[in-house]
Amino acid sequence: MLFFFLFFLCTFVGDMAGLYFHIPFCKRICAYCDFFRSADLRCMPQTIEAMHQELGESHRFISDRKLHTIYFGGGTPSLLHPSEFQRFIDQAAGLFDCSSVEEITIEANPDDITSEFVSELRLTSVNRVSLGVQSFDDEELKFMNRRHSAEEAVRAVRRLQDSGVENITIDLIFGVDGFDENVLRSSVERAIELDVQHISAYHLTIEPSTTFHRRLTRGQMREIDERQSEKEYLLVEKMLREAGYEHYEVSNYARSGFRSKHNSSYWQGVHYLGIGPGAHSFNGEERRWCSQSIADYIAGRRYEGERLSEQDHFNEYVMTSLRRAEGIDLDFVASRFGDGKCAKLIAHAERWREQGDLVLNDRRLYIPTSKFLISDSIIECLFEV
Ligand code: SF4
Repeated sequence: MLFFFLFFLCTFVGDMAGLYFHIPFCKRICAYCDFFRSADLRCMPQTIEAMHQELGESHRFISDRKLHTIYFGGGTPSLLHPSEFQRFIDQAAGLFDCSSVEEITIEANPDDITSEFVSELRLTSVNRVSLGVQSFDDEELKFMNRRHSAEEAVRAVRRLQDSGVENITIDLIFGVDGFDENVLRSSVERAIELDVQHISAYHLTIEPSTTFHRRLTRGQMREIDERQSEKEYLLVEKMLREAGYEHYEVSNYARSGFRSKHNSSYWQGVHYLGIGPGAHSFNGEERRWCSQSIADYIAGRRYEGERLSEQDHFNEYVMTSLRRAEGIDLDFVASRFGDGKCAKLIAHAERWREQGDLVLNDRRLYIPTSKFLISDSIIECLFEV
């Protein structure tokens, strides 16, 4: 308990950092996607060079820190030749203390995982691969405009495992109209059979300016109702828990020892530097982000930012903590934000505790994993306004 408190205190004030590279290119745009990305691959080489330049210029944003994790996200980082990852890693090693880096992740599309790609990847320091599988049902993959088949996804996992990659995570999406829990059950079964170390399972949200949103407004699809959402959520939860995965964050499940270290850092207030168009950075006091225009990015970077107030820090802590199984450490709240705020938080939580949506136990306030689906509503009510 004391160890966890001290660990959390250290991480919240920040004594280690993460480095994130955003590769904003995709060969094809998925029907649900509202991330910052472009299907115009012509600017990719210039963008990569601009990212090296940005790393050289921006490292001081978190410069006196040890790196613990490096993450290549997107977009589709697997569009790069693996040697490009190592070029970034080597550059980072010249700018930061990388002696404690434990996890280097790349996001990949299953159809990019060819034998050649894997052989080249094994020559780099990348030790974790996050595969955007989303479903093991070909019809559903087609509906989502994914560019791979279920078979290709299975082959990609096997290929990585056979080459010795021992830390693989896959993404799944549930809550898709027209694909009921039987389709979902087979996808989750397939994921479990593959024996990957980590699974992220996201409920579909239909965001404006996506193909799904256009279909929704034309009446060609609908959002599933709350009852169905809960059914599917609980199905995923039960299957993964019974298969030995720990449900440690709203959308994340891991085998023991395989929680995502990089994403856990975000949830624990660790400082991070984001490189690439649209990437965000945080140094404990300030959050800043680079403009979401590839042309602007190549021409010279422009940043926007905000300084976090005490209220922002408090709300951020409440949000990130309640999304995790451990929940809020009330001793930490009292020491970091004051006894008054701690007492107020406990009082605000009362209504949810009475309903069984929040639990107070051993100076920890947490949402039971079976109620994670409504975490956003609970968190919002506990914010300081
Ligand atoms: S591959 Fe990922 S980033 Fe690219 S369009 Fe699909 S979901 Fe979006």
